[in-house]
Amino acid sequence: MRNIPFGRPIIGDEERSAVLEVLSGTQFVHGPLAKKFETDFSGFIGGGYAHTVASCTAGLHLAYVYLGIGPGDEVIVPAQTHVATAHSVEYTGARPVFVDVDATTGNIDIDGIEAAISPRTKAISVVHYLGLPVDMDRVNVLARKHDLFVVEDAALALGARYKGVHAGLIGDVGSFSFYPVKHITTAEGGMFTTRHAEVAAKVARLKAFGYDKMVGERVVPGLYDVDLLGYNYRMNEIEAAIGVQQLKRVGGFLTKRAENDAALRKALEDIDEVKCLAAGGGDFEHAHYCLVAVLDDAVADKRYDIINGLRDLGVGTSVYYPGPVPHLKYYRDKYDLGRVQYPNAARISNHSIALSVGPHLDEEDMIYVGRMLKQVLGAIK
Ligand SMILES: *Cc1c(COP(=O)(O)O)cnc(C)c1O
Repeated sequence: MRNIPFGRPIIGDEERSAVLEVLSGTQFVHGPLAKKFETDFSGFIGGGYAHTVASCTAGLHLAYVYLGIGPGDEVIVPAQTHVATAHSVEYTGARPVFVDVDATTGNIDIDGIEAAISPRTKAISVVHYLGLPVDMDRVNVLARKHDLFVVEDAALALGARYKGVHAGLIGDVGSFSFYPVKHITTAEGGMFTTRHAEVAAKVARLKAFGYDKMVGERVVPGLYDVDLLGYNYRMNEIEAAIGVQQLKRVGGFLTKRAENDAALRKALEDIDEVKCLAAGGGDFEHAHYCLVAVLDDAVADKRYDIINGLRDLGVGTSVYYPGPVPHLKYYRDKYDLGRVQYPNAARISNHSIALSVGPHLDEEDMIYVGRMLKQVLGAIK
């Protein structure tokens, strides 16, 4: 029997000694490693401005703080995503307005965006679902037409490109996650990106209390003024040290993910009871976070039996995500969304199994997962 965990961070001696080196010194924040990680990251994504932040969620929140939105304002949010996409709007007092997703990609339904825009709308947030880029030309056209800001939740989109442009630089701003099982990790952490210099300059201060002068720019140490209600959303040097090393591995990670994704799709090809979400390609360069197998109606109500069957055969799985965000209790109760239907998001949430294509796995593992899924499906019928 194979052991196939859904996610596992890949940490080597390089990361371990980089952390020890930070701990052997005295500079734990405001140091050179966060700067280096930012420079290397913008090099990898091909330009723009990058700022380390405490998490992807912190980066998304800063986008809305930058915009100055609050009660009475609205932001379009896809129904099928991590709750952070909506929470980051909710923190400001503005209202997330949920739009269903496309059944074949899991990405926000762009016709649905247009229908949801109101005079109160201030921004559109998109999620490159599990690493598959959204059709951003269409989103940007809508945004220009209605004078809206475009926020990319790029938590799972490191390596995703749309028409050759990396996620996080296609809309106005983006935010990446370095949570342990994402494409690369810093334990906790994120990267805020933007193609606008003025947004980058303000967010750099918003993530650090709103200081007018950063450490290093101060004429007298400790002397500064504060002209913004900033947060403490910085990344520390220990995390940044891990990030610098992880980023060196990202090319290899992405190649492995693409190979695993292709191998797993092939292994699932002749299983009639499952259909995979879109594979990307062409203008839509997929970052292959994981592969979502949507179960046929005939077996969908056996999902937990299938998940448990796979687990007993050593195959770890996950669910992306546990339900449409508007149907999670907080949003369901606050905005009375229980009866509003998001059929495509609900189908992906409730009828699918997420299978790993992570770089800790190889082609043999993918063939094994395909065989085990067949075996489990055969047994439950
Ligand atoms: C993981 C995830 C987040 C949250 O990232 P953190 O770094 O943990 O804040 C946000 N959005 C999506 C789509 C995610 O998958």
